[in-house]
Amino acid sequence: MSSDQRSVLFREVNDRIYELLESGDSDLPGEFLCECGRDCGRRVALAPHEFAELRDSGRFLESPDCGESRLVPALG
Ligand SMILES: [Zn+2]
Repeated sequence: MSSDQRSVLFREVNDRIYELLESGDSDLPGEFLCECGRDCGRRVALAPHEFAELRDSGRFLESPDCGESRLVPALG
Protein backbone atom coordinates (compact mmCIF):
# COMPACT_ATOMS: atom_id res chain seq x y z
CA MET A 1 0.00 0.00 0.00
CA SER A 2 1.36 3.44 -0.88
CA SER A 3 1.46 6.24 1.66
CA ASP A 4 -1.23 8.07 -0.30
CA GLN A 5 -3.53 5.06 -0.22
CA ARG A 6 -2.90 4.65 3.47
CA SER A 7 -3.72 8.30 4.15
CA VAL A 8 -7.01 8.00 2.24
CA LEU A 9 -7.91 4.78 4.02
CA PHE A 10 -7.13 6.23 7.44
CA ARG A 11 -9.13 9.35 6.64
CA GLU A 12 -12.15 7.15 5.93
CA VAL A 13 -11.64 5.25 9.16
CA ASN A 14 -11.34 8.51 11.09
CA ASP A 15 -14.52 9.83 9.51
CA ARG A 16 -16.23 6.69 10.77
CA ILE A 17 -14.83 7.18 14.28
CA TYR A 18 -16.02 10.76 14.18
CA GLU A 19 -19.53 9.71 13.19
CA LEU A 20 -19.64 7.28 16.09
CA LEU A 21 -18.47 9.95 18.53
CA GLU A 22 -20.92 12.46 17.12
CA SER A 23 -23.80 10.03 17.57
CA GLY A 24 -23.04 9.90 21.29
CA ASP A 25 -24.06 12.45 23.84
CA SER A 26 -20.70 13.47 25.15
CA ASP A 27 -17.84 15.47 23.73
CA LEU A 28 -15.24 13.07 25.05
CA PRO A 29 -12.07 12.65 23.01
CA GLY A 30 -11.82 9.72 20.65
CA GLU A 31 -8.78 7.85 19.39
CA PHE A 32 -8.12 8.77 15.77
CA LEU A 33 -5.53 7.24 13.50
CA CYS A 34 -2.51 9.26 12.46
CA GLU A 35 -2.90 10.10 8.76
CA CYS A 36 0.76 10.77 8.03
CA GLY A 37 0.77 7.93 5.50
CA ARG A 38 3.58 6.00 7.09
CA ASP A 39 2.88 2.79 8.92
CA CYS A 40 3.46 4.50 12.26
CA GLY A 41 0.45 3.06 14.10
CA ARG A 42 0.16 6.18 16.22
CA ARG A 43 -3.14 7.40 17.63
CA VAL A 44 -4.25 10.95 18.26
CA ALA A 45 -6.79 11.79 20.96
CA LEU A 46 -9.19 14.47 19.73
CA ALA A 47 -12.60 15.66 20.81
CA PRO A 48 -15.23 15.48 18.02
CA HIS A 49 -15.31 19.24 17.55
CA GLU A 50 -11.53 19.36 17.30
CA PHE A 51 -11.59 16.73 14.58
CA ALA A 52 -14.32 18.65 12.73
CA GLU A 53 -12.21 21.81 12.82
CA LEU A 54 -9.24 19.94 11.42
CA ARG A 55 -11.35 18.51 8.58
CA ASP A 56 -12.73 21.97 7.82
CA SER A 57 -9.20 23.28 7.52
CA GLY A 58 -8.46 20.56 4.94
CA ARG A 59 -5.40 19.34 6.81
CA PHE A 60 -4.33 15.82 7.56
CA LEU A 61 -4.54 14.58 11.10
CA GLU A 62 -1.07 13.75 12.31
CA SER A 63 0.45 12.78 15.58
CA PRO A 64 2.83 15.52 16.81
CA ASP A 65 5.55 12.88 16.71
CA CYS A 66 4.98 12.40 12.98
CA GLY A 67 4.23 16.01 12.05
CA GLU A 68 7.55 17.28 13.26
CA SER A 69 9.46 15.05 10.90
CA ARG A 70 7.27 15.74 7.91
CA LEU A 71 8.87 18.26 5.57
CA VAL A 72 6.28 18.45 2.81
CA PRO A 73 2.71 19.47 3.67
CA ALA A 74 -0.07 17.12 2.62
CA LEU A 75 -1.94 17.94 -0.56
CA GLY A 76 -5.64 17.35 -1.14
ZN1 LIG B 1 2.06 8.97 11.73
